[in-house]
Amino acid sequence: RLVSNLLDLSRIEAGALRPDKDWHDIAGLIDDVLGRLRPVTAEHRVVVGVPDALPPVALDYLKIGDVLVNLIENAVKYTPKGTEIHVSVRQTAEELRVEVADRGAGIPPEDLPRLFDPFYRVRKAEARPKGMGLGLAVAKGLVQAHGGRIWAENCEGGGARFVFSLPLAAGDPIEAERQERDE
Ligand code: ATP
Ligand code: MG
Repeated sequence: RLVSNLLDLSRIEAGALRPDKDWHDIAGLIDDVLGRLRPVTAEHRVVVGVPDALPPVALDYLKIGDVLVNLIENAVKYTPKGTEIHVSVRQTAEELRVEVADRGAGIPPEDLPRLFDPFYRVRKAEARPKGMGLGLAVAKGLVQAHGGRIWAENCEGGGARFVFSLPLAAGDPIEAERQERDE
C-alpha cells in the first residue's frame, strides 16, 4: 500500500496520472473492494448501503478501488474495534457520491483544512497509529483526476465521514461511450 501510494502521489504531482476510464457499476466495485479487505475489516461491522439500479459511471477501476481502500483502511485504523463502518452511495442529478462513515473520534476541526495534504497527520496523540499521511493525498489526486471532489466532515453522532463524488455522464452514457470511441 505504501509503495502504491508513493507511486500514485509522484504521478499525481508530476501531472502524469491518466485514469484508464471505462464504464463500471460502482456497486460491483464496492463489493469487490470489501471482499478483498475482509481480513482488514474483520473486527469492525461493515454496513453497506448501495441503492439498486445505479447508472454506470466512467472510472478507472483500480484507481477508484485504491481510493476506497485508503478510506476504508483509515476507518478501520482510526476507530475502535467493534464499531460500525458505513459504506454508501447516493445519486444526485450530476454525480454519484460515495461515502465512508465511521464511529471513531472524528477529525479535530483545526486539522480538517490540511487533512488531504501529503504527509499530513492529525497531531492528537491517541490518533496516531502507524501511517505516512499519504492515503488521503492520493485519494484526493485520484478523485480529482476523475473530475470529482473529495471532502471530510464530522458526523453529528460522532465519527468522521469521507465523501467523494464522481461525475455522471451528461445524457446517454452508452451514446457518450460510442462517441468517445469514434473520436
Ligand atoms: P497512510 O494512509 O499513508 O498509511 P495515514 O493514514 O496517517 O497514513 P492519511 O490516510 O492521509 O494518512 O490520513 C491522514 C490523517 O487523517 C491520519 O493520520 C489521521 O490522523 C486522520 N484520519 C484519516 N482518516 C481518519 C478517520 N476515519 N478518523 C479519524 N482520523 C482520520
Ligand atoms: Mg491512511
